[in-house]
Order: sequence, then structure tokens, then C-alpha cells
Amino acid sequence: MNGIDWDALGFDAYRTRTVIFSHFKDGQWSPFEATETFSFTFDPFAQVFHYAISCFEGLKAFRQQDGRIALFRPDQNAARMKRTADFLGMPCPPKELFLQMCAACVENNLEFLPPYGHRASLYLRPLLVGMHPQMQLVPYPEAVFAVMCAPVGSYYGEHLRSFSAVIPGNYDRAAPKGSGSYKIGANYASTFKPYKMAHDQGYTELLYLNSATRQFVDEFGSSNFFAIKGNKYVTPLSDSVLPSITNKTLQEVAADLGMQVEKRPVPVEELAEFEEVGACGTAVVITPISHIDIKPVLEGPEVTRVFRFRPDGEVGPVCTRLYRHITGVQFGEREDTHGWCYYL
Ligand SMILES: *Cc1c(COP(=O)(O)O)cnc(C)c1O
Repeated sequence: MNGIDWDALGFDAYRTRTVIFSHFKDGQWSPFEATETFSFTFDPFAQVFHYAISCFEGLKAFRQQDGRIALFRPDQNAARMKRTADFLGMPCPPKELFLQMCAACVENNLEFLPPYGHRASLYLRPLLVGMHPQMQLVPYPEAVFAVMCAPVGSYYGEHLRSFSAVIPGNYDRAAPKGSGSYKIGANYASTFKPYKMAHDQGYTELLYLNSATRQFVDEFGSSNFFAIKGNKYVTPLSDSVLPSITNKTLQEVAADLGMQVEKRPVPVEELAEFEEVGACGTAVVITPISHIDIKPVLEGPEVTRVFRFRPDGEVGPVCTRLYRHITGVQFGEREDTHGWCYYL
């Protein structure tokens, strides 16, 4: 119909048909609209350009086996955006508006929703940006909330693959009482350069430690950390980790499967004891990690430590099981016992 090869999709910006948006001004949100021009007008003094007053969310819509369309846990994204907007002193769309605009985005771009059977989905990106022209460092109740989307692939097809990660000794992600647990654009700004360096060296992921003592694992650059140790699902408890909805879901799945869930500080040394490690987030659900190197200087040649989880790089059985379970619910192949799917 629109010539998209559903099996060849990656994870990239995409020009679909419409973007849905609403404007907060004079104390209220305007009725939401759809635009096909994909262009917005901002004053050059707008908050967002100078002070990074901007936050976002990420969630997916699925065409399920029986033809229904489901958003996965969008109420969680609405709640998280509220928490982030409060942190930035921004007005935030109420949950109902958030859900309506996500639904409208899918409905207005239906031809870009991948059909069932390709393990592909429609990624929704709700974005909230401060528009007020100013130089003073004060919050101002004016913002635009927009929901855009892009068809995305599964990365893996049916079989997971594993990847490597590096702990950069000379970069931190978030300060202890800073912005790390909020989904703000600025948190990503500081990861662009180290990511590029890591990728140039063949690493897929960056693993950040807690910046106060650098003794504990925090999270990957854009996804949470979890590990498997015997019958335990272990994930860091830290003020500077983004509360991932995928991680929360995996914890519930792990508990359903009879595993013990431990949310607690994870010392770097403990990496030597894990049988499986994974990065988790909406985009890929789980990225299994085969090994993690420590480099005191990311730009330099020295590797001081290597933690290897899977000897031959194969994907562990628990990661595989968790991945199949969660994607099974998303595509409507498994019973949704927790009520995670929100049907359009
Ligand atoms: C969005 C994000 C995640 C993953 O959260 P999900 O809700 O699972 O998509 C993890 N870490 C960071 C830093 C993030 O911004």
C-alpha cells in the first residue's frame, strides 16, 4: 500500500501522515489538532532552545493476532510524563488528554501501523516542550505537547542476539540528586559523544555507574540494567535511574514465573557473579549483554576489567523466556493477565 518493507524496519525518525498536538496557554490545553506539515513555529527565545525545557515519552502500538490494536501500558507513560513535567516546572497534559492524543496519533497514521506477523510495531513519541520566549530562569506555563510516531522493527526477528557494553571511567550520566530519574532531553545530550566513541570501538551500550561513588551500577545510556543470578532477577535501586516501564513489567513477569525479584544497590564487583545481563527499554524490550568491559578512559586503549556472562555470546535462557513472554502479551498471543494492553 505505502511500499513499506515491514521486515526491514529499524528504529528511526519517519515522516508518517500526521503529528497530533495541543498548546497550553492561558491556563488550558487547546483542543488537539492533527498537522500534516510536520513543522512548528517557535520564537528563537523559546525556553526549549536555551534551557532545554523539554521532556518526552516512548511507547508502542501493536496490531495483535486477532486484529485489535493495543497500546502497551500508556497510563504508565502518562504518569511518568507528569512526574517529569513537575520536575521541569512545566504544565503537563492530563492523563485523559495524553491517552486520547496517543490514540489519535495511531488512528491518523493507521497505514503506518505494521500488520501482525512481522514483529514490528508503531512507536509513539509524546513530546512536551517549553515555548515561552524568555531569558529569565523561571518556569512559565506555556508549552506544546505533540505526539508523533514511526513504524519500527523488532531488531531481532524471532531470535535474540547479544551485544557488548562498556563502563566509561571518565563519563557520568546523572548527579545523585539531579535529573537522572526524569525523562528529559538534556539527560541524553551528554551521552551522544560517549555513545559515538563506544560505537566506534565496537560496543553497543554504555553502562553508567552511580556518579557519587562509582561503586554501583546505575543503568545503560537509554535503558535499564537487569541481571539474572540463579532464580533471582536483580535490578539497581538508585535515585538517578530512570524508572523504566519495561523493567517494571519484566519484574512482574519474573515474579509470575516464580523468580525472586531484588531491587537493591548492585555493586560493580557483583557483575562477576551474574549468569545473564540485559538492557531493557521500550524500543527493543531486551538487549542481552554478552560482556562488559571497564575502560578508565573511554578514548584510551586500556581495558582494566572484562566481565563475561555468556561464554560464546549466545543468549541466556531467562532473557529469552522473559522476551517471549512480554512480546507475546504485546502481540496478543499470550493472555494479558495484568491488563497491560489498552485497546483502541
Ligand atoms: C526511557 C528510558 C529507559 C527505558 O524506559 P521504558 O519505559 O522501559 O522505555 C531507560 N533509561 C533511560 C535513561 C530512559 O530514558
